[in-house]
Amino acid sequence: MACIFCGIAASKIPSKTVFSDDRMLAFHDVNPGAPTHLLLIPRRHIESLSELAPGDDELVGAMVRKARDLAKDLGLAERGFRLVYNFGDDAGESVHHIHLHLLGGRRLGWPPG
Ligand code: 5GP
Ligand code: ZN
Repeated sequence: MACIFCGIAASKIPSKTVFSDDRMLAFHDVNPGAPTHLLLIPRRHIESLSELAPGDDELVGAMVRKARDLAKDLGLAERGFRLVYNFGDDAGESVHHIHLHLLGGRRLGWPPG
């Protein structure tokens, strides 16, 4: 099955990419839930959090640190921001290539709806 995020990683599907290196990229969510809403994905297709292996620890840690750095660059660090992985139907996971949401720029409710 074709994967939207693999298509974005391969530049076959356009996206507003703000960061890219050999193992990950970050781009604006097409349907933003906050004034700033980025998605960070590994270039490699990892279907789900359940597929994560110990060998992915460095990649996932690097994604979290990159999200933190992007939040700072975008001026979100002072007021705050949220990092989220959705998993499964109850969380509303809709794209099956792991992605870290970075949301900020407004007061975010907790717990989420
Ligand atoms: P999930 O609900 O799986 O945690 O998050 C998937 C996210 O991907 C959603 O927030 C949705 O708006 C975003 N999304 C889905 N398709 C595309 C796309 O083609 N381009 C971009 N930039 N975002 C997408
Ligand atoms: Zn994929």
